Amino acid sequence: MAIMPGAMLGVLGGGQLGRMFVQAAQQMGYPVTVLDPDSGSPAGRVADDFICAGYADPSALEKLGSQCAAITTEFENIPANSLRSLAKSCAVSPDAYSVSVAQNRIAEKQFLSINGLTVAPFAVIQQTDDFADQDAADLLPGILKVSQFGYDGKGQVKVASAAEFPAAYAQLNHAVCVLEKFMPLKCEISVVVARGSDGKVATFPVAENQHVNGILDVSIVPARIAPLLAGKAQEIACQIAKNLNYQGVLCVEFFVLQDDELVINEIAPRPHNSGHYSIDACVTSQFEQQVRTLCGLSLGSTAQLSPAVMINLLGDVWRNGDPDWNIVLQHPSAKLHLYGKAEARPGRKMGHFTVLSNDIETALSEALHIKQQLD
Ligand code: ADP
Ligand code: MG
Repeated sequence: MAIMPGAMLGVLGGGQLGRMFVQAAQQMGYPVTVLDPDSGSPAGRVADDFICAGYADPSALEKLGSQCAAITTEFENIPANSLRSLAKSCAVSPDAYSVSVAQNRIAEKQFLSINGLTVAPFAVIQQTDDFADQDAADLLPGILKVSQFGYDGKGQVKVASAAEFPAAYAQLNHAVCVLEKFMPLKCEISVVVARGSDGKVATFPVAENQHVNGILDVSIVPARIAPLLAGKAQEIACQIAKNLNYQGVLCVEFFVLQDDELVINEIAPRPHNSGHYSIDACVTSQFEQQVRTLCGLSLGSTAQLSPAVMINLLGDVWRNGDPDWNIVLQHPSAKLHLYGKAEARPGRKMGHFTVLSNDIETALSEALHIKQQLD
């Protein structure tokens, strides 16, 4: 049975994704409780109720479960067991299984491969000798990635030659890793898909993503790729959601190779940075869609109302104090989003802006012009 406005929703994690979920839910008339260990978390500051505790704290989880009709997560590193125990007392989506697959690069790649989907060639590295034992030199030049808890390019080191491997592995503290072949990319794209409890799916338009130092910098939507390729990416995203028996919002990141082959980079069991454009450019945002799937409502239309370019605002932009926001605000079709984070550290996601235009190239050049003025 659908959960109607007025019922309390819960979210594990208080980052910007949680904050935008809270805002979408509140707009629809659902109060929200946020659980996060950080007392100043972006989502906690706008929530109706805030529980400041660790994600595995039994009494905090019990309080959350007792006061919420349904609970979701904004971040994949929630212990799967916390989701499992919450599911005993209320509706939880996505489920512990999907999150456990997405939070571990080894489980994720194995799941995708078993389902006949292409991932970059890789080897599992659990100790230094695994490199030689698996003839992993074939994967070079490659990227060594910690299997868990990496984000925004953190927990990754490039490995150009076999001689570099021991130092690279030491740099990651000999954690369990995957060594991935470095792929020659034509571009990167992503698809956000929502799947309801009834199995119905809706994909958002494909985003074309540009990264700098492993962090998303610019998303251009619709992606400037062949419509057939975009359709194929959307189909794969639906297939992954179905194979996980997923309920909620999921993002699939792809590498597009020179010959237009699609390789899956990773999946995120939540709304995604590359889907932020949907707040200003689509009939339904990815966060409203998260509310809808969580509450068992029908899915909203993912139709895009305008081409859009989203640019991330990292802490680096604050190097001389607060930026001059007029640079963004004086553009009549630029939408500014700030996450309310107190401290602006380099590389930290502080906000984003989205520029709308009837023409994607115009949106891109105007967005890049604003970015350049801010820098
Ligand atoms: P994160 O979890 O930090 O987002 P990703 O695995 O998505 O980590 O890597 C971040 C970015 O680094 C990618 O979006 C891509 O630009 C680049 N990258 C990662 N792996 C590869 C690879 N195997 N080949 C080429 N580029 C890669
Ligand atoms: Mg990524």
